[in-house]
Amino acid sequence: MRKRLTLQAYKSGVLSGDRTKLSQAITLVESSLESDLTLASQLVQEILPSTGNSIRVGITGVPGVGKSTFIEAFGRHLISQGKRVAVLAVDPSSQKSKGSILGDKTRMEQLAGNPNAFIRPSPTGNTLGGVSAKTREVMLLCEAAGFDVILVETVGVGQSETAVKGMVDFFLLLMLAGAGDELQGIKKGIMEMADGLLIHKADEENLSQAKKAKTTYTQALHLFPPGENGWSPKVLTGSSITHEGLPEVWELILAFQEKMIANGFFEQNRANQRLNWLHENIQNLLERAFFSHPEVSSLLEEGKEKVKSGEASPMSLAKKATELFLKNSL
Ligand code: GDP
Repeated sequence: MRKRLTLQAYKSGVLSGDRTKLSQAITLVESSLESDLTLASQLVQEILPSTGNSIRVGITGVPGVGKSTFIEAFGRHLISQGKRVAVLAVDPSSQKSKGSILGDKTRMEQLAGNPNAFIRPSPTGNTLGGVSAKTREVMLLCEAAGFDVILVETVGVGQSETAVKGMVDFFLLLMLAGAGDELQGIKKGIMEMADGLLIHKADEENLSQAKKAKTTYTQALHLFPPGENGWSPKVLTGSSITHEGLPEVWELILAFQEKMIANGFFEQNRANQRLNWLHENIQNLLERAFFSHPEVSSLLEEGKEKVKSGEASPMSLAKKATELFLKNSL
């Protein structure tokens, strides 16, 4: 059985930047056990004053675009700039292999071994392209532990981008230069969400195509109006093998942050995100209470077959169950 620490021990461990304690605290926060919930929420509340001092960067792109190679190279660049980097990583294979931590470790070997880096693969189950319901809390714990750049990796599977966009300050989309069909294969919606586009693997024989793609994407992005924060997404080229273009990615993020702080959107965006986070928590807690309610579950169990066969309307059963829940919860 997992050893549970005291609130104080978790808190001081996290605040002192102890990576083992940080890992244990994350396990607590990610736990779906009812008995961990109170301690986890107390811990997050306690460390809250020490959070927020980081830049949160979401990184997305289709499998094979080079996300983990990029994060390894980019992370090391950030560390060379005096930063402490936390990576909330996703290993698509882990969904199948029940959380192969090894997958991420081997992909980000050098970064993982660096004392100024912390890599946390996402837990299996309950994840959306690797974004867990608790990624926000995990980010806060990393910030409290002194990590000042948080990289959240997500696989380009659609919905997960929206989830990550809703919890980061800057959203980076990695792309490959295609053979004349640059605009294919990437959903317009995701491109619109990006604050920066990196044409990746811009090295050797890919280089000239990458430069062409940069022009194409820059033109395509000009067709979108700038966001209400006044920012127009920028397109860069870079390689995680030669490391060319990686310092420019960091400069872009810093320029974005500076501009957003100056025009007030940095804090406004985070304030909106906190509100959404509140709503998500309410939804999760309500759902949990609802489905674990004994009378509600037996009512649903009984009515399920009739809904499946089309005899009973899902709406009326849902209404009945909700009314039962509300009546019995007063
Ligand atoms: P992910 O699935 O997006 O995480 O992609 P990976 O980081 O696993 O990389 C996929 C493949 O692309 C690997 O074989 C990498 O060696 C290769 N790769 C990653 N970055 C670069 C790069 O900048 N240039 C080149 N030429 N290959 C790269």
